[in-house]
Amino acid sequence: MQNHERILVALDTPSITKACYILDIAGDYIGGIKLGLEFFNHNGVIGVNKVTGRMDTKLFLDLKFHDISNTVAGAVRGIISTQPHIINVHTAGGYDMMKKAKLQALESAEQFGMTSPLVIGVTVLTALDDADLKAVGYANNAKEQVVIMAKLAKDAGLDGVVCSAHEIKAIKETCGKAFITVVPGIRPDGANKGDQKRTMTSAQAIAEGADYIVIGRPITEAEDILAAAKEIAESVNAI
Ligand code: C5P
Repeated sequence: MQNHERILVALDTPSITKACYILDIAGDYIGGIKLGLEFFNHNGVIGVNKVTGRMDTKLFLDLKFHDISNTVAGAVRGIISTQPHIINVHTAGGYDMMKKAKLQALESAEQFGMTSPLVIGVTVLTALDDADLKAVGYANNAKEQVVIMAKLAKDAGLDGVVCSAHEIKAIKETCGKAFITVVPGIRPDGANKGDQKRTMTSAQAIAEGADYIVIGRPITEAEDILAAAKEIAESVNAI
């Protein structure tokens, strides 16, 4: 796999037209797209299928399920028809919920005659730092907390986690190299971080060992989307 194929562009927009427009422009320089809560809550499964129907592209359907295990399993059944490559649940939902989500993905995928999506766990959102964690009552710092959550996800049978680039090495050491890391919070040096806090550049994140990097605004809000996608693709392919 060339490193630019590890780039998933986050299409955080309510507009199907805008999502398709960005995919059409950046498509040659990325490995896939990420559709999340904003897009899905406006457009649902039908909207997802409209975007993915444009070209052969990997889909990370980032709906971050967090509920009791029976409800999460039902939610997994509801999205499997979009044929996602990756789906996710919150690790804070606990061992049983994660395990059931993974088993449900395998079962539903078999019923649809498709390959099961990778099921990964959200650890600590990249928009939070140690102080934010303390404020919500966690005693551990972000890195310690992420590794605990990753280990639980691995024990529950998940395929990997969402984490910041700062935790990739510790996760791979604890959970093994094959346990995938999907990494948002990517920002070019000196760029506006927006709401993100635990950030790194794309090239640094790939050098740290990220399996996928999720990039939204640095591409989607660039004045020249094509140039931004091309520049990032070239920077990671040079690693
Ligand atoms: O625009 P930006 O590059 O910050 O987009 C990052 C994307 O990754 C957003 O769609 C956000 O929902 C998602 N994400 C994140 N942190 C996580 C999980 C997902 O920023 N832990």
